[in-house]
Amino acid sequence: MRPAPIPYRDRERHASRPTAKLRLIAAVLAIVSCILLLTLYPARIALADEADASGSIVAIDVEIEADAQETRLVFKLNGPLEGRALHTGSPERVIIDLPRVNFQLPADQARTGGLISHFRYGLFARDRSRIVIDLAEPALAGSLSSQARETDGAHFFTITLRPVDPEGFAEAVARDSQDLAETAARNGAVAAQIGELDDRPVIVVDPGHGGVDPGAVASGGVTEKEIVLAFGLRLRERLEEKGRYQVIMTREEDVFVSLADRVRIAREAQADLFISIHADSISSAPQVSGLTVYTGSEQASDAESARLAERENRADAAAGIEEERIDTGVGDILMDLTRRETRGFSHGFARYLVEEMESVARLNRNPLRQAGFRVLRAPDVPSVLVELGYLSSRRDIDLLRSPEWRDKTTQSMAEAIGVYFTTRFANRGLAPVSP
Ligand SMILES: [Zn+2]
Repeated sequence: MRPAPIPYRDRERHASRPTAKLRLIAAVLAIVSCILLLTLYPARIALADEADASGSIVAIDVEIEADAQETRLVFKLNGPLEGRALHTGSPERVIIDLPRVNFQLPADQARTGGLISHFRYGLFARDRSRIVIDLAEPALAGSLSSQARETDGAHFFTITLRPVDPEGFAEAVARDSQDLAETAARNGAVAAQIGELDDRPVIVVDPGHGGVDPGAVASGGVTEKEIVLAFGLRLRERLEEKGRYQVIMTREEDVFVSLADRVRIAREAQADLFISIHADSISSAPQVSGLTVYTGSEQASDAESARLAERENRADAAAGIEEERIDTGVGDILMDLTRRETRGFSHGFARYLVEEMESVARLNRNPLRQAGFRVLRAPDVPSVLVELGYLSSRRDIDLLRSPEWRDKTTQSMAEAIGVYFTTRFANRGLAPVSP
């Protein structure tokens, strides 16, 4: 909604003063304040309006207001907003489900205060956004309110939290559990991402995290979800350059995709290769740095990898959804054979990747590792997870943000993919894919 113009009646009131001089001053004042109001204050709202082409509501600021009785989380928006609050336990959280909102909030905003220990926000599906509030103690969300301010057309969406005893919170969790499960149900993203396919090899590029799940956050505020999306999009460009492959992205924008949906996209597309891109943080080991390629395994190669996979596997919980079981066909003999063959391909590709990337990227001291990442569980799609580097490492952060580095590494990744497919098709007795 556009900001309302300056109230005209103020000018009339000033103009009705007796002397001509006063009238002149009043007119000048009115014009100046009019210009100020129209240019300075609502400028951000006007900008935000233009910044969102899809017509979503834009959130431009947020504040936590806390007193002894309640904590209010207030979002400033360019239009009215309706949402629904749901409660979930262990850990205690309040989830606010919303239509698509374009969050353009200042990076330095406070994320904690009163009953809120932390909150995050973002796209939860293409047409829905979500705010996830981690509670410092049990609290219930009262009704959500959206109010307009007449002077500039800004809207304020307020989430009010009030403390409650653990029993009261448990009741709310029980009441909301069914609704929460329904919101996590498939959102149609899978079919939309796959589209029409032909005979060329299919590669699924999977930028980790997204939307309400930022992944690792570096000290300067840069997030894993941004870094891996930029990398994934550049990789797609590279792979599509020569027309040899069909590339499917699990996400092309800053949206949440569940781990099960990522695997589902790879399986339903009958992908020939699945590459998950990450840049995590290992706070317990800031010395860990450099590119690492993981393949899936129940048995982690080392304790750090096990911890990393464990944290990575909680991505769905971070977005407030229950972990969905990924059907891996365990116990099915044919599927077991397929899985063994697939693992062989995954390992082979991981080795090509490390060999090709050695010359352009700084590798981890042990660049080939294994761990039980849920996203690598498709039994019939060769899959790897590449940690481009670690946001916990000062040495890695600068590289990860550099477009030149991205150019170089996507180039050698594309070369490794070329080697993989040429070898694989040659071994199958098929002609290599034409260049
Ligand atoms: Zn990650």
